[in-house]
Amino acid sequence: MGLEAIISGGGIGGLATAAALAQRGWKVTVFESRPELRVSGSGIYLRDNGLNVLSELGAYDRVMRNPFLGRGVEQRDRLNNLVHPARLPPGRRIVAVPRADLLAGLEQAARDAGVKIVTGKEVVDAKANGTLVFANSDELQADLAIGCDGIWSAVRRGIGVEQSRVRSYEGALRTIVKATQAEMPEEVRGNFIECWNGTRRLLITPINEQEVYLALTCREDDKEARDVSIRPCWRESFPAWSFLLDRINDAVSWGVYTIIHCKTWSAGRTCVLGDSAHATTPNLGQGGGMAMQNGLALAAYMANVTDPRDIPEGLAEWEKAMRPTVETCQHWASLFNEIANVPDEYRPDITKAFLGHPWVLSKLATGAASVPITKTDWVPNVQGARK
Ligand SMILES: Cc1cc2nc3c(=O)[nH]c(=O)nc-3n(C[C@H](O)[C@H](O)[C@H](O)COP(=O)(O)OP(=O)(O)OC[C@H]3O[C@@H](n4cnc5c(N)ncnc54)[C@H](O)[C@@H]3O)c2cc1C
Repeated sequence: MGLEAIISGGGIGGLATAAALAQRGWKVTVFESRPELRVSGSGIYLRDNGLNVLSELGAYDRVMRNPFLGRGVEQRDRLNNLVHPARLPPGRRIVAVPRADLLAGLEQAARDAGVKIVTGKEVVDAKANGTLVFANSDELQADLAIGCDGIWSAVRRGIGVEQSRVRSYEGALRTIVKATQAEMPEEVRGNFIECWNGTRRLLITPINEQEVYLALTCREDDKEARDVSIRPCWRESFPAWSFLLDRINDAVSWGVYTIIHCKTWSAGRTCVLGDSAHATTPNLGQGGGMAMQNGLALAAYMANVTDPRDIPEGLAEWEKAMRPTVETCQHWASLFNEIANVPDEYRPDITKAFLGHPWVLSKLATGAASVPITKTDWVPNVQGARK
């Protein structure tokens, strides 16, 4: 009989991790606090690393049932002039899909692998011996407990691994509008579009042939702009895109970004991953990708464990393998965010220099170009680990 894992959080990271572990023979239960599995947010970018994880999990076809494959993200200034074209290195992909499709694909992969999903069950604490504590005071212990419970992670708090949790001064309004490619100006068709005006930004992301995900980002203290009723200031800042802003009918969500660093990702036989361990600003579109990739890597390390006493050593090896990639993504996503603070008159030159430099590009592409770990040569050092 395989070992047993219990996971707090049925989001992108939790379901990917659950599927990957169950596919490697583990018995897995996911506990989600909401009454049903549900995504917050609208669309989501997926890069090569995330797409490769989805293929490995068998979730690719469901997630990609109606995606938008873009040529890249182009940069435009406040007058809607093109500053930097949409461009991808040869062989690289950037795709956007509705978040609901991503979650549905991961849920399907998890259920197909035998994962049990329990909704309406809130985790309030965790212990380093593989225990999750629930809101009704129930406790459950397994060989491994995993916190994939987002930025407010009860598991991270329980095992005391948080190093820093920083709330960004910037946030995003997000929604989806109806718009076909044929309705878009000819020169932007096939592209994702990032427009800047002062500290406001409009990110235009087609997620299929009929819908466009809009992210309107601004400083939290820009009270007029952050209003979920979408005030006229957005049309004034981005007049060329009023026709999309005018179509906002659905609910709009507002949220600031959080950046989380942990001293370590595990304590004993309990660990954290995804936003709970390494939340990032969203500028590289890698938060979800890294959550899935890290969950798959964790499963690859755990696949070589047959005795629960070897789990702490496996967790340390997993962290050693994944942390550099994850932290490079966090760091460069934050640096990219600083473009928002460059005055309009300098922004085009700085954007061109930044995005035109091969070394910068290689750093920005660290996550997208990274190869997911699907198996590992690591085997427990039984003698050492059990001293
Ligand atoms: C504006 C914005 C745009 C983004 N764009 C992208 C993008 O294009 N591409 C990309 O890859 N990433 C993007 N991200 C990042 C991405 O959304 C996150 O990194 C990703 O959702 C992290 O997944 P997760 O499973 O770790 O956490 P979450 O998605 O937060 O999931 C956590 C789950 O745990 C549940 N939960 C919480 N607390 C408890 C508890 N106590 N007990 C039980 N369950 C609990 C929650 O209900 C939720 O279901 C973006 C983020 C933002 C803010």
